[in-house]
Amino acid sequence: MLEIADTIERELPQDKLVRRLCTILSSYLDQAQIDQCVQAYELGAIAHAGQFRKSGEAYICHPVSVAITLAEMHMDANGITAAILHDVIEDTPISKKELAKQFGTEVAELVDGVTKLTKIDTKSHAEAQAENVRKMFLAMANDLRVIIVKLADRLHNMQTLGVMPPPKKRRIARETLDIYAPIANRLGMNNIRQKLEALSFEAMYPMRHAVLNNAVKKARGNRRKIVDIIESSIKNRLEQAGINCDVAGREKNLYSIYKKMLSKRIPLAAVFDVYAFRIFCDDVDTCYRVLGVMHNLYKPFPGRFKDYIALPKANGYQSLHSVLMGPYGVPIEVQIRTHEMHRMSESGIAAHWLYKSDDNKAEKFQDHANEWLRDLLEIQKSAGDSLEFIDNLKVDLFSQEVFVFTPQGAIIKLPHGASIIDFAYAVHTDVGNACVSARIDKQLVPLQTKLENGFTVEVITATWARPNPLWLNYVLTAKARSGIRNYLKHFKQQEAISLGRRLLEKELHVLHLHLEDIDKDKLQALLQIMAKPSLDDLLEDIGLGNQMPFLVAKHIAQDDIHATVKLDDNDQTQKQPLVIKGTEGMVITLAKCCRPIPGDPIIGYFNPGKGIVVHHHECRNSSLVRKKQTNWLDVEWSKDLDGDFPVEIRLEVLNQRGSLATIASTISELNSNIENVTVVDQDDRICIDLITLTVKDRVHLAKIMRRLKELSIVLKLTRVKA
Ligand code: MN
Repeated sequence: MLEIADTIERELPQDKLVRRLCTILSSYLDQAQIDQCVQAYELGAIAHAGQFRKSGEAYICHPVSVAITLAEMHMDANGITAAILHDVIEDTPISKKELAKQFGTEVAELVDGVTKLTKIDTKSHAEAQAENVRKMFLAMANDLRVIIVKLADRLHNMQTLGVMPPPKKRRIARETLDIYAPIANRLGMNNIRQKLEALSFEAMYPMRHAVLNNAVKKARGNRRKIVDIIESSIKNRLEQAGINCDVAGREKNLYSIYKKMLSKRIPLAAVFDVYAFRIFCDDVDTCYRVLGVMHNLYKPFPGRFKDYIALPKANGYQSLHSVLMGPYGVPIEVQIRTHEMHRMSESGIAAHWLYKSDDNKAEKFQDHANEWLRDLLEIQKSAGDSLEFIDNLKVDLFSQEVFVFTPQGAIIKLPHGASIIDFAYAVHTDVGNACVSARIDKQLVPLQTKLENGFTVEVITATWARPNPLWLNYVLTAKARSGIRNYLKHFKQQEAISLGRRLLEKELHVLHLHLEDIDKDKLQALLQIMAKPSLDDLLEDIGLGNQMPFLVAKHIAQDDIHATVKLDDNDQTQKQPLVIKGTEGMVITLAKCCRPIPGDPIIGYFNPGKGIVVHHHECRNSSLVRKKQTNWLDVEWSKDLDGDFPVEIRLEVLNQRGSLATIASTISELNSNIENVTVVDQDDRICIDLITLTVKDRVHLAKIMRRLKELSIVLKLTRVKA
């Protein structure tokens, strides 16, 4: 006897919980599935060993309690397994991989999903964003079980809030009311929702809760007699009518009483002075018959009848509601529904595997989720109601959207597959136009990176930055697309006009003329001949290389008395070269073949429709151009330059481990970035690479090349000029 008492006494709380869990599981799972859950417990107990809850209990008690809640809903074996292990990735050294190895990828994915949600709710959220956070939660969990495990997790955390300091309690309770309770509501899980609300109410307003609780208890005692009288007269009347159904007095929960008092500004007595009953029937027909009997027994209050059977609520809730004038003038609220409707209203999506687990495919969770959605759709259709809610929910559950944070914690919603550029334009067109790179969760990433749910995205902008036409390949949203297009169009136009003006002024200068001194009428006549609506159109055309500036200048000068210099088309020598910075943008571009950099001798030529392309003097392409065409012009580098210019070098390197890394670090030590590396050829001994790097100018490049040549692994090094 003594021995037995001893063992019972020594039983740990977690052992007791596991026994309870197994008892529940045995009512709907087979032995192999139960064994898997026990294995999960054994792994979890070892993993969490030495960790304790604030209450002093071993940590493992928490996940097992969560699993018990879910087992009571008849969650499938993998869901229970994941619930038992839901904190191991976050809080213990066990990895997702290890979980996958022992319990399969499904369990590992579920645990990973819960972990991701857990990470989100540690951020602070403005109340106004609650709807977006809820959507984000639903979108992130591509498996509904993740959400349901998370709800059960939150429920247990709320049940064990007691030991937390009050401010933390309030914060968690607020979050529960803003995020979790509405999600439970959306999934039709009223049971969980009410529990979450009740616990949050108590945690947030302990005094109000205590006062209200006492008052309600007292009132309840006083009302007992009236409730009994009403209940028996309802039962009697229904019996007389030959209707078989169950009647139950309904206790309103404290939080809904409190909300009603608050929103309607009425005292407790006014809320509580209502006697509520539920009547459960076998089928829909009986519900309406019961309604008739009830309206016959007590007079209904006008305007207080609601038929949620014909017109269900958005989350599928169905019932008949009516308020009646009872004996002694007390108002009576009745809710009439079928048992099936009641189950749906209590458990929502969970009802589908809780009450329909008789078939063999009971373990297919997603089927149940879909079935629930279909039912909801069916209910809504028959009600002829707007399907918008379902559409929203479907989007939420099988998501085509991603939700990401700005650094300030605001949430931005984008289509699935959107990039950082989409994000930047979603924040503001100016941000999009000036973005150069971004950080995701503090890590630098390229702009074309695709966004995933829960990322915190910080866009880095620069005043000199401008949209790149290539971005159009990476964007999905209309806003980004039109933003880029508009900018490019407008920008190219502006650039072309200003370049055209510079070129024309330069040519006129040779003729001792100035654009602003030209007679307006003469200019107008010229524009008419050239079929240009305005001077800007003409300048744009020049800038784009469609009109040769010296020909236009010649036209203008033809009969101008101020033009004193004899015209000589080929006399380029007396003209000043066009000064360029190389970073002008779209109408002055540096040739890709020879990649000229500041300090190089350069030459420009007109490329119709595109403006001026600048080549290295030694570029083979440029000398061809020079021979063939006359539309070239002298250009020279501006004195004040500030930019990174790409240049290409060809390297022959010993083919050995680490040589590329050595080269890369040498280059970056000298403040240069590698833009591209191509391996042209290699054998066992030698590797030939083409490297594109950025430099400030020739001096900078020379320094880098000198340093590279000093490396013992570098055999040969040349700059590529076409
Ligand atoms: Mn947890």
